[in-house]
Amino acid sequence: GRSPPDRRKSCRCGWAQEFSRRQILKNRRRREAKSILSSSKNLLPLPFSAARLSAPMETTLILLKPDCITGRKAGEVFKRFEDAGFQIRGCKMFRADAGLLREHYAHIATKPFFPEVEAFISASPVIALALSGENAVERIRELLGPTDSTKAAKGTIRGDFGQTVMKNIAHASDTRENAEIELKRFFKPDEIFD
Ligand code: ADP
Repeated sequence: GRSPPDRRKSCRCGWAQEFSRRQILKNRRRREAKSILSSSKNLLPLPFSAARLSAPMETTLILLKPDCITGRKAGEVFKRFEDAGFQIRGCKMFRADAGLLREHYAHIATKPFFPEVEAFISASPVIALALSGENAVERIRELLGPTDSTKAAKGTIRGDFGQTVMKNIAHASDTRENAEIELKRFFKPDEIFD
């Protein structure tokens, strides 16, 4: 029988055919790569948005301390919280009495600096806030910076407005569990709004 025709041999322009065959393959690979890239453009943000969706909505307790109020920094601090996307759910101004402070600061009640802290916080009114948002507990603590204002980075609330380790502008709950306890300590249920 006859053997199948060898196209390359039969064509005087075999190199041209080979060239165009490679060109077609190259273009196909390019198209495939492009479509993978464009589909991965749609896919890549997914894990990110999934992570955002699963971030817990939390409500946390903030106390704007007397140095914040007398230093007229309350507006600035509210603005930082709101600009970061947090929603005010509760807000009240009052003078913290000794009993409330002993309960709130039970974890430092035996420290030598406690009487000074107690005198400082009860000297003039404070503002309690219930703030909600994704990961509110952790993110508000980050916005505040560390306890000692002199060690807090610029750009943090304590770093920008605080004076000392004691006069550090605001308190914020440090865990979700404490946020729940502290919100109940400072707000009645009907003082927190949806
Ligand atoms: P934080 O408020 O950052 O959670 P702590 O719970 O340890 O910090 O302390 C409660 C508050 O007591 C502080 O915010 C600060 O006002 C005050 N405080 C903490 N440490 C000292 C200290 N060494 N000297 C004076 N006051 C302090």
